[in-house]
Amino acid sequence: MQFLFESLIELITQTSTNLPPDVRQAMQGALGAETPNTQASQALNIIASNIDMAAGDEGPICQDTGMPTFMVHTPVGVSQIAIRKAIREAVAEATKRGKLRPNSVDSLTGKNSGNNLGAETPVIHFDQWEQDQIEVKLVLKGGGCENKNIQYSLPCELEHLGKAGRNLEGVHKCILHAVWQAQGQGCAPGALGVCIGSDRGHGYALAKKQLFRTLDDVNPNPELAQLEASIMEEANRLGIGSMGFGGKVSLIGCKITAANRLPASFFVSVAYDCWAFRRLGIRLDAASGAITQWLYRDPSRPVAKMASGSGFPLSGREIILRPPISEEQIRALKVGDVVLITGECYTGRDAVHAHLVKNPLPEGVDLRGAVLYHCGPVMLNHNGVWSVKAAGPTTSSREEPYQADIIKNFGVRAVIGKGGMGKKTLAALQEHGAVYLNAIGGAAQYYARAIDKVLGVSLLDFGIPEAMWHLHVHDFVAIVTMDAHGNSLHANVEKETGKQLEQFQTI
Ligand code: SF4
Repeated sequence: MQFLFESLIELITQTSTNLPPDVRQAMQGALGAETPNTQASQALNIIASNIDMAAGDEGPICQDTGMPTFMVHTPVGVSQIAIRKAIREAVAEATKRGKLRPNSVDSLTGKNSGNNLGAETPVIHFDQWEQDQIEVKLVLKGGGCENKNIQYSLPCELEHLGKAGRNLEGVHKCILHAVWQAQGQGCAPGALGVCIGSDRGHGYALAKKQLFRTLDDVNPNPELAQLEASIMEEANRLGIGSMGFGGKVSLIGCKITAANRLPASFFVSVAYDCWAFRRLGIRLDAASGAITQWLYRDPSRPVAKMASGSGFPLSGREIILRPPISEEQIRALKVGDVVLITGECYTGRDAVHAHLVKNPLPEGVDLRGAVLYHCGPVMLNHNGVWSVKAAGPTTSSREEPYQADIIKNFGVRAVIGKGGMGKKTLAALQEHGAVYLNAIGGAAQYYARAIDKVLGVSLLDFGIPEAMWHLHVHDFVAIVTMDAHGNSLHANVEKETGKQLEQFQTI
């Protein structure tokens, strides 16, 4: 199969950089449905531009290219061993080319393998079938939305919804709760794959498999089709909105399957995927490995541009921040303000935060008045020079145990991330004069273009995503969602959407 390797590289590249038409259509619908000039519509405009930029430049749509998960069907007689080897080689090569972020971390040592290969990564599922061709499907689902997957064991008590029993009504409540608990942290608007039944492990696998259905298909089981339609309608009444900013579109798809269960168990497993729903597939000639057909694409329909404008139309009311930022400037900001940052900033995510609560700053790093960006970028090094390939925000709530201490100890004035943070951080913002700025999750190409220069890197032994990158940014757009006066947009939206959820206590 002389073309197999190149075919797989093309599949990985296209999946990482070019959203399929059904997802584009759903996101176009979201753009049209959202109220103009709201924070949610601003987020959707940036997302639309980002989708165009990624496809135009073949750059990753989101910097978190997730756990590559392949579903392969082979005719009888085709070597699955050879296909597995080719997939692993293609994954390593696509990582080298900056189409995938190095995402495979040894769970015992914490060491990043650097090439996306490691124990059980990538994930590859094989099935035989009676057709002549090989089929390879791929989904790239990042950590932010993966962390919002949830599994319920019925019967249970659900916040705002009360008792969920061992029946379809109980299942219905669990699925609505799954949307609510994700808020903006999984980069809403999201899509759900759901499995009713099975056991814990297989239930999750079947839920994820539902993500290989197109968003606009109709479930062949009328009862499940009805449930999918109801969830879509009801979830979009909750008011979570894009990025959890509040708004009309919280969900772009809901795909449900049912599997038999043990008499004693009744699980509902939910795989939450973000708007950056990267899923494609190819059919291959079994002799040569050449691509004969793309799945999820319609060759007769050209891919239309998503954005009608420039991503984030400036109103003139944006507030310019140039680090180092003073306490006075920070205390003047309020939730809802839009800021444009120009100057130096540092990235820092899980490993950096855990390190800084026990260690001094790396040599040459000064965080007084600084901007700390929760971001694990895709970076390439050519002849000793680093360049940024993708650089959107990561989910900030993971840093909640550390953030308050880091703000206090090092004098950070602004934290950029997505999804918001908790009460401890909110109190630290108020006490020490700092703000939380929400960038648009998944907009990795959009934000990569706001980075003029890589000024340096510290703690590179943590791996590329976890290192502390020293960057110079220009007109980096973000929205104040937690201010130094004790206000949090995230807490407000969670409270208000919780009230909305209560209307479904009896379905
Ligand atoms: S869009 Fe958000 S949730 Fe999805 S992979 Fe990117 S950062 Fe993670």
